[in-house]
Amino acid sequence: MSKVALLFSGGPDSTSLLYDLLDQGHEVITFTFNAGEFEAEAERRHAKATAEKLGVENHFVDILPTLQALYNDSAPVVMRKVVFNTVKPFGSGIAIALAASAAICKGAEKLYYAVHKGDSYPDNKPQYFELLSKAITMEQGGKKFEVVAPYLEMSKAEVMQRGIDLGMDVDATWSCAVSSSAECGACEPCKDRVEAKRLIKVPA
Ligand SMILES: [Zn+2]
Repeated sequence: MSKVALLFSGGPDSTSLLYDLLDQGHEVITFTFNAGEFEAEAERRHAKATAEKLGVENHFVDILPTLQALYNDSAPVVMRKVVFNTVKPFGSGIAIALAASAAICKGAEKLYYAVHKGDSYPDNKPQYFELLSKAITMEQGGKKFEVVAPYLEMSKAEVMQRGIDLGMDVDATWSCAVSSSAECGACEPCKDRVEAKRLIKVPA
């Protein structure tokens, strides 16, 4: 058993990965960031509830004021999603760097990130995570730290199935990227969620 960290949005992908890591016997520290997205409040709620249910540490960190000051922009900051086409440069790197730094301080040796085959980000490549791992390890004077994206070769439906097999309730996760109160059913993450549920025959 080792201590690991997880970027945890409270969505079905990162929730599946949380169940997976616990099943593998890891102690998991989860990080949930608020960058001001429409779904941030729903993500906070779902991440907190799941973390409490599973008895894992969850750190909800409001990074919005810092990011708005950095970009001199009062709009929500999109770091990891392509829904609005306004993702900040190196956004995933910023989220990973923040979580990795905190993870190391808490004694974790790995940071997990639940991107999958259907996430069409240009940085959704094994080499990207290998390079980040190398950079962090170098900065740590050679003490190994890994950024791990274990679902890169799996579809969203396969990831969801993995979570369900391990006890995840899909309805206890959040996907919608345009609301924190009711899932719209029409945005890209909502459509992906509905399609994944249809493929693995989860009741809608
Ligand atoms: Zn939606």
